[in-house]
Amino acid sequence: MNYKRVITSVTKQLESTKDNGKVANYISELSSVDPSKFGVHLTTINNKHFNFGDANDKFSIQSIAKVLSLSLAYKLENEKLWKRVGVEPSGTAFNSLIQLETDLGIPRNPLINAGAIVICDILITHLENPKKDFIEFVREISGISTIEYCSRIAESEKATGYRNTALINLMKSFGNIKNDIDVVMDFYFNLCSIEMTCKELSQTFLFLATYGVSPYSEERVLSKSKSKRINAIMQLCGFYDEAGEFSFKVGLPGKSGVGGGIVAIYPSKYSVAVWSPKLNKKGNSFKGIRFLELFTTETEASIF
Ligand code: GLN
Repeated sequence: MNYKRVITSVTKQLESTKDNGKVANYISELSSVDPSKFGVHLTTINNKHFNFGDANDKFSIQSIAKVLSLSLAYKLENEKLWKRVGVEPSGTAFNSLIQLETDLGIPRNPLINAGAIVICDILITHLENPKKDFIEFVREISGISTIEYCSRIAESEKATGYRNTALINLMKSFGNIKNDIDVVMDFYFNLCSIEMTCKELSQTFLFLATYGVSPYSEERVLSKSKSKRINAIMQLCGFYDEAGEFSFKVGLPGKSGVGGGIVAIYPSKYSVAVWSPKLNKKGNSFKGIRFLELFTTETEASIF
């Protein structure tokens, strides 16, 4: 497959697409990002690289990091994990409180905010130095030793994280948060603040295209079955109340973040990251989704 040709053709088509999205501003540090940024990076399982535009600019990966925290928690906790969080699509916004009350404090899945907060709680119980141990896990699976949290963004989100604080308090009242609320929230905001370029993001997620083996360390990050299940969760829950539409249009498992990034996986072929900061009404990158839709249409290849 000539990915270079397809990326060039799709980005050309995108030039004439009007971007109706808006940059996230509920985290004040995110609102200062240049809205016109656009980058793509595709890494194949044979370590071939194809990119376009601002593929080497760092951006805030936000909720995309929830897949990485889920991967580590699943590795440590095994099937017990599913007693604390479900695997069903929520059909609601990423920060919704609605289902949590009727579901007795058990979040629908690990990729909405409530679920990711429970995963943070689980990691805090397991890890000696949660922030340090977690970032080391990310560096190991990506083969990139410079990946870091951004304290400026974490602090900025902490200052206005009212909904997330509401979510954790509700879950604590149901007994589904075991550690101190402030400690869990500090870890959660740091998790969301991780910065990567499109190149780094596609490289980091390649282990989910290789059935759980890091192509860099050649070590098994997750069992084949766990890797399949993480992809299944992304397919059904990676885009909140737009997960069905993403699946319909793109046909790959993926995950978005309010920083405007999206990563999508084609098992046994590639991992692709797109970044465009303007978000649609569902909080997903407007142009990012359009790029991936056109990309899988032109390559005539998806998991379906
Ligand atoms: N840090 C963001 C939040 O908790 C992540 C949301 C997202 O990327 N969808 O609101």
